Amino acid sequence: MNKLQAEKEIRRLRKEIEQNSHLYYVLDNPRISDAEYDSLFNALKNLEKEYPDFVTEDSPTQRVGGTPLVAFGSVNHKVPLLSLDNAMDEEELLDFDKRVRDGLVKDQVEYVCELKIDGLAVTLSYKKGKFVQGATRGDGQHGEDITQNLKTINNIPLTLDEPIDIEVRGEVYLPYDDFIKLNEERDANDESKFANPRNAAAGSLRQLDSKVTAARPLDIFCYYAIIPHSKFKTHYENLEYIKKLGFKINPNIKICEGIGDVQKYIKHWDKAREKLNYEIDGIVVKVNNLANQESLAATSRAPRWAIAFKYPPMQAETIIEDIHVQVGRTGAITPVAYLKSVYLAGVTVKRATLHNEDEIRRKEIKIGDHVIVQRAGEVIPEVVKVVKSKRSGREKEFRMPKKCPVCHGELYRPEGEAVTRCINASCPMQIKERIRHFTTREAMDIEHVGPAVVEQLVDNHIIKDVADLYSLEKADLLKLERFAEKSAQNVIDSIHKSKNRSHDRLLYALGIRMIGRHVASLIARNYSSLEDLFDIKEADLQKIDGIGPKVAQSAEHFFSQKENRRLIERLKDAGVSIKSNVPKGPQPFKGKTFVFTGGLETMTRPDAEELVRKLGGHPSSSVSQNTDYVIAGKDPGSKYDKAKRLGVKILSEKEFGELVKS
Ligand code: NAD
Repeated sequence: MNKLQAEKEIRRLRKEIEQNSHLYYVLDNPRISDAEYDSLFNALKNLEKEYPDFVTEDSPTQRVGGTPLVAFGSVNHKVPLLSLDNAMDEEELLDFDKRVRDGLVKDQVEYVCELKIDGLAVTLSYKKGKFVQGATRGDGQHGEDITQNLKTINNIPLTLDEPIDIEVRGEVYLPYDDFIKLNEERDANDESKFANPRNAAAGSLRQLDSKVTAARPLDIFCYYAIIPHSKFKTHYENLEYIKKLGFKINPNIKICEGIGDVQKYIKHWDKAREKLNYEIDGIVVKVNNLANQESLAATSRAPRWAIAFKYPPMQAETIIEDIHVQVGRTGAITPVAYLKSVYLAGVTVKRATLHNEDEIRRKEIKIGDHVIVQRAGEVIPEVVKVVKSKRSGREKEFRMPKKCPVCHGELYRPEGEAVTRCINASCPMQIKERIRHFTTREAMDIEHVGPAVVEQLVDNHIIKDVADLYSLEKADLLKLERFAEKSAQNVIDSIHKSKNRSHDRLLYALGIRMIGRHVASLIARNYSSLEDLFDIKEADLQKIDGIGPKVAQSAEHFFSQKENRRLIERLKDAGVSIKSNVPKGPQPFKGKTFVFTGGLETMTRPDAEELVRKLGGHPSSSVSQNTDYVIAGKDPGSKYDKAKRLGVKILSEKEFGELVKS
């Protein structure tokens, strides 16, 4: 590359990085993966190193990413909030250690290693022990004032035991299980899903309405403190001090003697990170001695006394052998990539979602392409990008079918929407998906009626909707392959058992668009029979706290349809309870909130939650100061720690059982 070409390439890279930074930092909606972004960033860094004449002050390599949104008030950071330089491999880590040792003229340096939490950096200011202001990092000099939103996070203390002035910095994040739940709810509500926990946390915190933030179970790990007139000599002592003040510190912080110890820590967490209930994208290595930090100082972008060792993302390369479309229960058509099997982060991956047609075009995916797939925690694998250099020319363009692959009915994509739908409500696939949804554990919990059984029953024209399940006879099943006397009886018994499920489960099981489990229980608490909903109006539903206009509209539409009301009547005639089965009379758990964590031994989580509801209580998924009891089963998760910190009463499964009995 000659100088002219290098200049052109530098300009191109800067433009691409800036566009992606805007999508990531300002809009919380990235288009490319972090690994792709990092490789653009490193390409620019290397070119600028080779051609230093082209380095300008406004290059992304010289600045902290992110411009504050004007909708929030602006906060001037007295001490800038910097980014961190990256070490992408062992060599770059050793280079960092050498620079530090040379700078301090030492043979060995004491470091503190911390997990690099993938969330959003915030700074918290306290005056005379009172929380007065909280802000995002923004461009490093100016952040967004998000004080009210930060006040909704339980682990941020509002008053400290000591009346001191202090600034504490940390990372706000969303635990994995809450991220998955949030995305499920958004999916049920037809809202776009968050790309990853980091974006979900950032999107939740940078909300103009604090009520939205309050409804998201955000948490924080603090990792830095600015303490005026401090007597402490090390970063580690600072952390211990703020921990005593009531700030939440990550439990896995470790002092490491020299870079060898740091390497061991990095190696350990490369594997162990899979077990964490929050996402980390690396390890932050910091010089422990504060005077040494000061003498090493910082560049305009990052301190010289710290580095972020970045783990390679959990990605692998494979080939797209074919693309098929799937039909969901609402008729949504989702293209799915069928992959050559590949081992990735502990599991064999054979399929990856391609989301929708636009996504395939944007990523320029073709059948036969070599692709990079990625898994983040429990999330379904997705195709990150195509390895275009491996194209042979024989790859085939994917065309969205014009007809439903199952019922051959018309497919329709409403203008302005990304999702294509099969609009034939009698499409066998939609029927199967609706029945499958009805039988799931969270819905009517019908054991022995899994996807394969539903498929057989629909394909053999034995049932065509959920009400038909209740008129099934043993003889119908015995006609099918793989059914014998006992297995057929099991199915009949399970269906029979489901007749007395609570009516909120039935409401959810009907698969009404935008009515997820939580919304169903909100509605059911206000209407004691599904028949009471037949003439429901949008405005009535909107009076219920937590029900918005879209959900209300969807419910009104569903119950206004004659065939849906008929379906509920048929269920009732078959003996399915459509009324609340919460016993009248005393409700000992009334007004009490329960959170379950860890594995239960004597009952399933949905059963335990239902028991709480029956006794008038409210099962919740996240712990806050308003939680009355946390029930800790086997291997409890982060909710247990949170309950302990907040002083919430913790019960074992046995104690919970005793409470129920009493
Ligand atoms: P960074 O995330 O690489 O490192 C700095 C940040 O680490 C700090 O601001 C802080 O928020 C965080 N952090 C977490 N744990 C910490 C700890 N224990 N101690 C100190 N800091 C800790 O830098 P950045 O400037 O925030 O972001 C750059 C990264 O963001 C890129 O490497 C890329 O992965 C991602 N990014 C992605 C896109 C995209 O389009 N996908 C765009 C822009 C940035």
